[in-house]
Amino acid sequence: MKIYLDGKFVDEADAKVSVFDHGLLYGDGVFEGIRLYGGNIFRLEEHLERLEYSAKAILLTLPLTREQLSWATCETCRQNGLTDAYLRLVVTRGVGDLGLSPWLCPKPSMFIIASKITLYPQEHYDNGLAIVTVPTRRIGPAALPPTIKSLNYLNNILGKIEAKQFGALEAIMLNDQGYVAECTADNVFIVHKGEIITPSASQGALRGITRGTVIDIAKELKLPLRETDMTRYDIWCADECFLTGSGAEVIPVVKLDGRVIGSGKPGPITQQVLASFRRRVLVEGTKI
Ligand code: PMP
Repeated sequence: MKIYLDGKFVDEADAKVSVFDHGLLYGDGVFEGIRLYGGNIFRLEEHLERLEYSAKAILLTLPLTREQLSWATCETCRQNGLTDAYLRLVVTRGVGDLGLSPWLCPKPSMFIIASKITLYPQEHYDNGLAIVTVPTRRIGPAALPPTIKSLNYLNNILGKIEAKQFGALEAIMLNDQGYVAECTADNVFIVHKGEIITPSASQGALRGITRGTVIDIAKELKLPLRETDMTRYDIWCADECFLTGSGAEVIPVVKLDGRVIGSGKPGPITQQVLASFRRRVLVEGTKI
């Protein structure tokens, strides 16, 4: 496997960063997770824009321009002869001393990995996921805006560990006020009386690219969609529920906290959205 690392393509064994890199020492950096489908990178420009915004928010100067980022991402796919993959773009603060000071890290580091993706097992797309609400709250926008896709994922990892302790693969995370924010690595949607509803990003969610795609799909299919506050009750009493993410795509949820959602089977609107999503990823995107 060839990895893009600071301007060069190197073998996996040589793709190394320093133990003094603040990305490793403090989670000081930003990243993106992107999909390549049939030789097209899905919504590359949107992912690169989000990477730029994340970097701007933490006062990190990206080492590459938009054009260079785009080229390096495509070239990593080409170098590995891939047509379908999961791409991970990472920009770290770079090497510094053992203090926090980012201004003592003169050069950010950037790497791109193009790898195979492990999806949820197919049975969960067919039958839906059973998920739980975890006690760990999603970190609030006043502490660390969840709209920043930073390398600091410990909050999500605690949520993921708790999900596993309850025997679930994903979990709902609430914000400090008790409203639904998102899942540990996915955004959440419900369907109620024909309307698609998702928590507004201001409740503490990442503005997911797949979430944005579902909003576009709803417009195209003329399905009403609303971004609003959501509680666990709204999910328990919904007709349908599904999660979205670059890795998960669109995955149905049929149970939350032991309550069966709707009919207990992936709902018709979820299936319509999933089918439309699967069509889009094959035609939309940047050719590598
Ligand atoms: N929320 C979180 C916390 C995430 O890490 C992700 C990405 N895996 C998502 C939502 C979904 O975002 P996207 O659709 O851009 O992958």
